[in-house]
Amino acid sequence: MIAGGATPRGIGRAIALRLAQDGAQVAVTDLPGAAVIAGADCDRVTLLEETAAEIRTSGGQAIALPLDVTSSKDINRCLSEIEAALGPVGILVNNAGSLAGSADFLTTTPAQWEASFRVNLLGPVMLAQAVIPGMQSRGGGRIINIGSTGSLGAEPGFGAYTAMKHGLAGFSKTIAAEFGPDGILCNTVCPGYIATDMHTAANARLAGEQGIPVEELRRRRYASVALRDAGQPEDVAEAVAYLAGPAGAYVTGISLPVTGGVSPGI
Ligand code: NAD
Repeated sequence: MIAGGATPRGIGRAIALRLAQDGAQVAVTDLPGAAVIAGADCDRVTLLEETAAEIRTSGGQAIALPLDVTSSKDINRCLSEIEAALGPVGILVNNAGSLAGSADFLTTTPAQWEASFRVNLLGPVMLAQAVIPGMQSRGGGRIINIGSTGSLGAEPGFGAYTAMKHGLAGFSKTIAAEFGPDGILCNTVCPGYIATDMHTAANARLAGEQGIPVEELRRRRYASVALRDAGQPEDVAEAVAYLAGPAGAYVTGISLPVTGGVSPGI
């Protein structure tokens, strides 16, 4: 099960396609309703359906479902539908996240902090709580939380997001410690600069704030990356496939940077 998989150049969709290649039956989910993605009006569930259809065309099994991770009622409804269609969740990928409300620390409002908390931290916690009892009864499972370099350090302008992504890595370790004896493995994958729509939008915002062209911002930002470029969603999906598959059977409680070699900041 992948939470937050609708965006065409998003990390969640890349994970869905990659796990399907390894034979996983995939439930790809996202918020219902319309969104502006890469400047165009899109219906997220239609985008999810396209990803699920692509997997089925390649011989895999996949379904697309709406899910708002901030609603425990919606989580229960979604998990019941997945169980009925594909069976219980054996691998949970908490990929839903949002930079919304990222702002200068002093001007980030309590409402923005709370909104960031609900989507970036509480939602992943509630999803994990919902799938763990079933994983325990079946002898194990994998939970992979998509963090960020913001799980490891900080740069200016992303206070709420950074706090929540640190929290995500923190509760991942708690799950690893508490449920390791039940065969449940939990890790955080920490992407750096990944060339998704979300990242492109953040570049535009930062360039505007700093009063410089986007190209100059990109040159400055990637100067700190050893590989001197942003990564691709598929690079993150490979790390998730490793942690979800047999090769990752003795790896739990880690935060794995997929950053091209970048300092996570302070
Ligand atoms: P994205 O915006 O394409 O993906 C996030 C998805 O989460 C979206 O499809 C969005 O609709 C969904 N979402 C938001 N609120 C939700 C909710 N309440 N319920 C369900 N789904 C919800 O961006 P992305 O870049 O693919 O990001 C995927 C993950 O990777 C995020 O957790 C993000 O924080 C993390 N990340 C991205 C980058 C990057 O450079 N792109 C870097 C570090 C971390």
